[in-house]
This record gives sequence, C-alpha cells and structure tokens, in this order.
Amino acid sequence: MAEIIRNYFMPRWRTDRISCACGWEGDSSGMQMELHEEVTDYACPACENTLLIVSHPDMQQVQQAAAEGNAEARQQLALVEEALALHRKA
Ligand SMILES: [Zn+2]
Repeated sequence: MAEIIRNYFMPRWRTDRISCACGWEGDSSGMQMELHEEVTDYACPACENTLLIVSHPDMQQVQQAAAEGNAEARQQLALVEEALALHRKA
C-alpha cells in the first residue's frame, strides 16, 4: 500500500524509511520519482511498487507554510509573487 502524503510541507516524508514488500528499504531519495500534474509518485527502485504519493501543495498551503517560517514555502511564494508581478507589468 502506498502512503499518501497530503501535506507537502511536513518534512518527515522525505527522510522516513519505508520498507517495501520485496525487501528493499530506504527513504524517498533512493526511490524512483515520477511527476504528475497533481501528485508526485515515489516507487521502489527494486520492484517499481509505488510507496509514496505526495500531493502537490496548493497556494493556500504554500502561504500557510511560508507564514509558519518554512524556507521552501517562502521560496515558492517568492517565485509566484515575482511571476505575478511580471504578469501585471506586461
Ligand atoms: Zn520493492
């Protein structure tokens, strides 16, 4: 069963070790990542079983995490605001 991560800004999912049914064990950095429009899948590198499904954050989650001091969220928010500012000027 894949674990579904609904809050991208909960940093633990990146470093939690997960054991696959095939015997492989490791964290997300060792898994095969596949980007989709709404989620990113992480699969076992040995048997391609999906182990993690991470929902992409929406704007509200980014703003909330940034307000709570999350560095990655602040960066994302800055990029979005920059893009919006450029858009307004154009
Ligand atoms: Zn496996």
